[in-house]
Amino acid sequence: MTSEIGKEGDWTPAKINTRQRAARCARGKDVAAIPVKRVPSESWASSDAVRRTMQGNHKFDTKPELQLRSALHRAGLRFFKNRRPSPAVSCRVDVLFPAARLAVFVDGCFWHSCPIHRNQPRTNSAWWQQKLLRNRQRDERNNAELHAEGWRVLRIWEHEPVEDAVAAVCAVLRS
Ligand SMILES: [Zn+2]
Repeated sequence: MTSEIGKEGDWTPAKINTRQRAARCARGKDVAAIPVKRVPSESWASSDAVRRTMQGNHKFDTKPELQLRSALHRAGLRFFKNRRPSPAVSCRVDVLFPAARLAVFVDGCFWHSCPIHRNQPRTNSAWWQQKLLRNRQRDERNNAELHAEGWRVLRIWEHEPVEDAVAAVCAVLRS
């Protein structure tokens, strides 16, 4: 099996790391308000909503994904990244183990409404409520499609320590 891991130079480092971010979330800060990517203050994306949408549209190679892939690779595992498992499945999978029929997703706490850190932005809240609901529905549809094609699905929250995530993947691969 070929690994596609490697190129890690093409992403912008976050101002704070995931662990700090999770700690801040745990202290009750507005997770959506915490910058995950450097956006210059003179950026034309002047409103918070526009900026968040832009960040949210960058779905692949997020920092938690990169950290997980690196850790899995260090653990000696080989996998495909950001790959559609088969033509019958409409979504791309963050980390794919074809031989084990395992699809792993790294879900962002804000975009996928994590039960610990979920929150609704106060501005434009009706729009956000719909947007986040559609995200959750899409996740459920993707899970169902993958299950129907015989894939196991493991979803890992962005806030989970990377060691725990690796252990969870290894446990499923062994089962
Ligand atoms: Zn979370």
